[in-house]
Amino acid sequence: MTQYNLFNVIRGAFTRQTHWERAWRDPEPKKHYDVVIVGGGGHGLATAFYLAKNHGITNVAVLERGYLGGGNVGRNTVTVRSNYLLEGNHHFYEHSLKLWEGLSRELNYNVMFSQRGVLNLAHSDAQMDAFARRGNAMRLAGIDSDLLSREEVMKFCPDLDYSDETRFPIYGGLLQPRAGTARHDAVAWGYARGADMRGVDIIQGCEVTGFEKTGNRITGVKTTRGTIGAGQVANCTAGHTTQIAAMAGLRVPIESHLLQAFVSEPVKPHLDTVVTFGAGHFYMNQSDKGGMVFGGDLDGYNSFAQRGNMPVVEHVVACALTVMPNLGRLRLLRHWGGIMDMTMDGSPIIGKTPVDNFYINGGWCYGGFKAIPAGGWVMADTIAHDRPHKLAEAFALDRFERGALLDEGGKGPVPNLH
Ligand SMILES: Cc1cc2nc3c(=O)[nH]c(=O)nc-3n(C[C@H](O)[C@H](O)[C@H](O)COP(=O)(O)OP(=O)(O)OC[C@H]3O[C@@H](n4cnc5c(N)ncnc54)[C@H](O)[C@@H]3O)c2cc1C
Repeated sequence: MTQYNLFNVIRGAFTRQTHWERAWRDPEPKKHYDVVIVGGGGHGLATAFYLAKNHGITNVAVLERGYLGGGNVGRNTVTVRSNYLLEGNHHFYEHSLKLWEGLSRELNYNVMFSQRGVLNLAHSDAQMDAFARRGNAMRLAGIDSDLLSREEVMKFCPDLDYSDETRFPIYGGLLQPRAGTARHDAVAWGYARGADMRGVDIIQGCEVTGFEKTGNRITGVKTTRGTIGAGQVANCTAGHTTQIAAMAGLRVPIESHLLQAFVSEPVKPHLDTVVTFGAGHFYMNQSDKGGMVFGGDLDGYNSFAQRGNMPVVEHVVACALTVMPNLGRLRLLRHWGGIMDMTMDGSPIIGKTPVDNFYINGGWCYGGFKAIPAGGWVMADTIAHDRPHKLAEAFALDRFERGALLDEGGKGPVPNLH
């Protein structure tokens, strides 16, 4: 595989840049793989990459029913952070953030990771207290966080509404300076290229329709391109986790809902951080192309349809104008939706299942993009050693039976209300 570097760009000047190879192959499925990963989103591709790189397991197929980047990995609003309150979350998300910090170099692919900070706004004294608690917990775990006063927020992010007329005055905020954004589909493409380079077969246009089982083990994966033998099977299908689990005979505590996102026409740079509103579910950043990117809450009903409803549009626009009234002069360019895998405590499920050689990486709710590097890392380790990874012990599927829920404010709003 041709490396992406200055030398090869200069070399291309003499060949009209025709020497570049395809970033990944388009192989026919083999009869059998040691590991079959269902779902070619961020987590499936990262799992394949780390299986090959960290564990030397390369007889691996990633089966994607559509095209790479067509799922949530290419539909999200790209916030990457590790500003959680609880210990079960701290070390996993911080491990992910550390992997993000070296990801472009590791993949030899520019994922455009930009550490522009994530600022959570507080609109009451009680919210400032909660942020102080979360910030202190993060610091104790070695994660960066700064509690900002109103004046410090004004200095850091001058274009917000600080007027006396505003309905929700800004009291201060919690800033994680090392958090930021990345280019979503580059993450899928970078992991795909890295996995393919190490021998993994990435098979697009291949939908999984069922499993062949002997006793409590899966022996084959039925697909639209024939049945493929499998030593181990990983379910990395995010919003479709429940459907694939049902094919293996499992009912998992996940509901699928649609989440929408929005982007405006491009404007000159005026927001160089990610801002979350504290009095409604709304957050925004400015993309590198200049568009203002907005996100809000889920659509309130279960669905596998990738199109959203109007009340959420209205809510997001209302919040945007409350936080930054000058956005009222912008036109929205596009909005789109992705199917979210909501667990009842808002935390993911990674690890083993009651079916012997079947593993789950799902339940990411609103926040699985930032988790892609660590999700792939621990999933690969779990498959390689057939036991939970230390960083993901709190994310075990059986926590719902044991009552060991991981329910915290840092994950976003309240999934158990949906
Ligand atoms: C609008 C929106 C905004 C978001 N914002 C953020 C954010 O700012 N920060 C953050 O951290 N997270 C965010 N998320 C969440 C994040 O995008 C997801 O949690 C994460 O991408 C899910 O993991 P994935 O990339 O592996 O999923 P996906 O990319 O959805 O991958 C799953 C794949 O499985 C495939 N599949 C499904 N069924 C089958 C089958 N039967 N056979 C074969 N393949 C199948 C699908 O086609 C899909 O490609 C957001 C999500 C949305 C929709």
